[in-house]
Amino acid sequence: MKKVAVIGSGTMGNGIAHTLAQFGYSVAMIDISQDALTKALGTIGKNLDRMVTKGSITEDDKKKTLGNISTFTKIADGVAGCELVVEAATENVELKLNIFRELDKVCSPETILASNTSSISITKIAAVTKRADKVIGMHFMNPVPVMKLVEVIRGYSTSDEVTSLIMNLSRKLNKVPVEVNDYPGFVANKILMPMINEAIITLHEGTAGVMEIDTVMKLGMAHPMGPLQLADFIGLDVCLSILRVLHEGYGNPKYAPCTLLVNMVTAGHLGAKSGTGFYSYTHGTKDLVVADRFKKKELV
Ligand code: NAD
Repeated sequence: MKKVAVIGSGTMGNGIAHTLAQFGYSVAMIDISQDALTKALGTIGKNLDRMVTKGSITEDDKKKTLGNISTFTKIADGVAGCELVVEAATENVELKLNIFRELDKVCSPETILASNTSSISITKIAAVTKRADKVIGMHFMNPVPVMKLVEVIRGYSTSDEVTSLIMNLSRKLNKVPVEVNDYPGFVANKILMPMINEAIITLHEGTAGVMEIDTVMKLGMAHPMGPLQLADFIGLDVCLSILRVLHEGYGNPKYAPCTLLVNMVTAGHLGAKSGTGFYSYTHGTKDLVVADRFKKKELV
């Protein structure tokens, strides 16, 4: 495999393009937004600079990596000659189904179509194509150039051959792939999201404050980040939508999102990206500052 297309150049897309290009693949990075592509190239450049400063790559590696990436705003132009497409566009079912319908039409019949979705069924995505055996989940973690795990999700009809090809490709990218089956939340989010939800319920019930809950989990369980800080980092809207997928998919009330989380998302308090979540991110400091609302226990 030499040529890969990455669809979407946001947080995940630029990280996936960076990693593939760094390991010598020719990458077509595709986004409907030219601004997003320009921003993505800037982000990749900065991340490569950081790696050069740390000594993990050379200035020449950086140049080669950037030279391996070309950008496109139209899917049909970018995917020409690609053996693999990794889709990392916005997490929206209809949008992804439309992208896969188009990919199925414009890609050669041998091309493997992978999705980086956090929660949408691979089997559902595969069903809108005529190549369900060649559709697979390739769930990278954020930040992609740093995180080791790739959750490789087999849809109902994904072939053994395609699965082992994607497992091997992940290893070539210096990642550790883990093969899982296609059920709501896969493995990572089926376990992570209920823990985050439980932390929010614990706060909502007044058992402890934001900092106390995160400290218990950090120091007591050796988690690098508490669950409420992690929820802010992932985005509270993203957490809510994954919990809804779990709740609907399993029909089990244990996945019902905490009403506090629902209220926060409705109010636009989405975590780090919006400036406020459980913590406040507008203080211009890297120190954790609990959001004003959660400083007063009675307001929770
Ligand atoms: P993002 O919002 O940062 O980027 C999405 C990009 O997709 C945007 O640049 C947008 O312009 C582009 N896009 C939208 N429609 C498109 C189309 N039709 N064709 C081409 N490009 C299109 O989102 P993200 O956080 O990078 O998430 C992307 C995917 O990765 C989602 O499926 C998400 O669930 C998954 N994911 C995200 C994380 C995370 O921590 N952010 C982790 C693992 C997986």
